Amino acid sequence: MPDRSESESRKLLRRLRDTLAEPGQGQERLDRITGLIADSMCTDVCSIYLFRDRETLELCATRGLKPESVHRTRMRLGEGLVGRVARTATAVNTADAPSERGFRYMPETGEEIYSSFLGVPIQRLGEKLGVLVVQSREARAYSEDEVYALDVTAMVLAEMTELGAFVSDDTPIAAPHKHPVMLRGGSGQEGTAEGHVWLHEPRVVVTNLVNDDPVAETARLREAVEKLRVSVDDLLRLTAGADKEQREILEAYRMFAKSRGWLRRMEQSIESGLSAEAAVEKEQSEARARLQLAPDPYLRERLHDLDDLSNRLLRILTGQGSDTGAVMPDRPILVARNIGPGELLEYGKKLKGVVLEEGSVGSHAAVVARALAIPLVVHCDTITTEALNGDSVIVDGDEGVVHLRPDDSVAAAFRDKIVMQTQAAARFAELRDRPAVARCGTAVSLHMNAGIMADLPSLKGSGAEGVGLFRTELQFLLRNSMPRRSDLAALYARVLKAAEGRRVAFRTLDIGSDKVMPYMNRPEEPNPAMGWRAVRVGLDKTGVMRMQLQALIRAAAGRPLTVMFPLVAEHGEFVAARDILLREIDREAHLGHPLPSRLEVGAMLETPSLAFAPDAFFQMADFISVGGNDLKQFFFAADRENELVRRRYDTLSISFLTFLQTIVRRCAESGTHLSFCGEDAGRPIDALAMAGIGMRTLSMRPASIGPVKDLILRADLGEIAALVEDAKRLGVASLRPQLTDYVRGLSPA
Ligand code: PEP
Ligand code: MG
Repeated sequence: MPDRSESESRKLLRRLRDTLAEPGQGQERLDRITGLIADSMCTDVCSIYLFRDRETLELCATRGLKPESVHRTRMRLGEGLVGRVARTATAVNTADAPSERGFRYMPETGEEIYSSFLGVPIQRLGEKLGVLVVQSREARAYSEDEVYALDVTAMVLAEMTELGAFVSDDTPIAAPHKHPVMLRGGSGQEGTAEGHVWLHEPRVVVTNLVNDDPVAETARLREAVEKLRVSVDDLLRLTAGADKEQREILEAYRMFAKSRGWLRRMEQSIESGLSAEAAVEKEQSEARARLQLAPDPYLRERLHDLDDLSNRLLRILTGQGSDTGAVMPDRPILVARNIGPGELLEYGKKLKGVVLEEGSVGSHAAVVARALAIPLVVHCDTITTEALNGDSVIVDGDEGVVHLRPDDSVAAAFRDKIVMQTQAAARFAELRDRPAVARCGTAVSLHMNAGIMADLPSLKGSGAEGVGLFRTELQFLLRNSMPRRSDLAALYARVLKAAEGRRVAFRTLDIGSDKVMPYMNRPEEPNPAMGWRAVRVGLDKTGVMRMQLQALIRAAAGRPLTVMFPLVAEHGEFVAARDILLREIDREAHLGHPLPSRLEVGAMLETPSLAFAPDAFFQMADFISVGGNDLKQFFFAADRENELVRRRYDTLSISFLTFLQTIVRRCAESGTHLSFCGEDAGRPIDALAMAGIGMRTLSMRPASIGPVKDLILRADLGEIAALVEDAKRLGVASLRPQLTDYVRGLSPA
């Protein structure tokens, strides 16, 4: 028996559900729905506009407007009142539409005779799908109840659209997630891949949209919210020692979970006829719509938190975990809003690419993607809304572009690019066992950068002579607690074993700045990149550094050991760090442990100051490795993680090359071995310039070794040195144009 006080929206929703249950094709269904809404709300007109593409709305069904205008009347986003509803994602309710700002008269529809207008957005989780409109001849203002009823109806329409309820040959546009979309982000890791979307957090699929029993449904919602609150409280207890940021997020979760307004609005939706799940989604949709318009980063963060919380609540209500039973497609490309380094590492090399809605170039996830050598695009706005599991997708990590559901021409062009890259890779593979000796007879030693065990097989595959930089921080970042000395020693020993006698330069822990260990208290720093990081932390908190050095010594056990300290800014720091290492060697000797057969101790030159250190420093260091990523950011005062400035200055600028020449000269004078291990060493033209100014050892990601070697084999380093001098004489800003011309003129290897 229907409740006597049954609201308009409940009645409307029930009828809508019955109508949708009847058999029928897409257009037929849309027509029936407009009729049903117009009858139920006693309006002269009801129309459904859906997006034809991201910018254009099309009238897809109407009761009241001229039938011949269906599929003919179109408007751009923002155009007219309908376009305004779509753009702002908020309702427009007016008794006098023609005098409303932005009103656009469409003669083909015959709408001039309608005075009142109520339009609400059809949207699902921030994705704009269309606009639902009712109009009347009489100048009536629609009541709050009516607005709400139409809003709730639009929500159900959005869900049905999403489920493909209106797709048929005659309404092909009512099919979201079908069009090709190109999204632009930032390049997190170079490389290209074609594959299928694998959502890290698959959407919860809600199929029951309407409820018959608001009392039972409200009880279900309350029970789920209670479970949610308990789980957030538990999380807060568990992370009592966590860093401030993590706790702030959880506090925000708790605030939302306890918010009366949130619960009240959802209960109101249930009262209006929605199921508990649909009520949660309605709130979530509205939060996402606000998120897209919110300029304030703090507010955006909180709206993200609310979004996460809604997902948790939906999972409780539907019982759907992250594992929906979907089978991972072949050539999976991971799509996520963000992902932790541990989770990404778990997926491992089976992923062909990663696309993140947020993320950053220097994030831990990016470090892992780099270690796994899979293309990564970051800052890819709306990707998690647009992409569905299994969608075809192309990731262009070189350009920072993602093609979702690409059409044939885009896919074909892209495949051509991949074929060319594969052919080039085959050519490079042939060079694997050839030493990189330039035409002039000078040899350049090519090494690889690594950070996880999975990198080591690349040693043989790439033809690298050794590991010029082993970043040790990943093992510290991926855990919830400090790794044990024995675990580290075992890992380092495995690395040395896999290197089969090739040199591995272990860099001691480089934490701080963007690399934060969740279990270590970290002070708030105004400028962390220039703050308490790397060897500075090691020297102030010697416990961790000593433990790591002990692990390295034990891992070497009779084999040669190479250790380098990151971000050494002055001679004294190097002396202090080296002393700690030597003391640990003594201690290990005392304990009777086998010692390394040979010890090399070096410094990473990552701050300009070290280039001007006293001669004694250059004489003491067994080797110096230039960390170009940091050195360049400090040389140009341009944050390496800031998209606005990070590409602004050229590595081949004469100023930077002249500075690098100073380092080359000082090392030559003291006989100190010098290498370069920043990302630029992996860019062939840049690598050639380094070799040209006298860097004889370069360390890079394994995939770059082939292309770099190919170029060195064809070049004459003396000619490049001459180009540098010419460029200086001519006063040009950068060597790049000259060097690029030079490379174009080289004959194939
Ligand atoms: C560098 O700064 O160039 C470097 C190799 O170290 P990281 O990128 O790990 O800071
Ligand atoms: Mg560095």
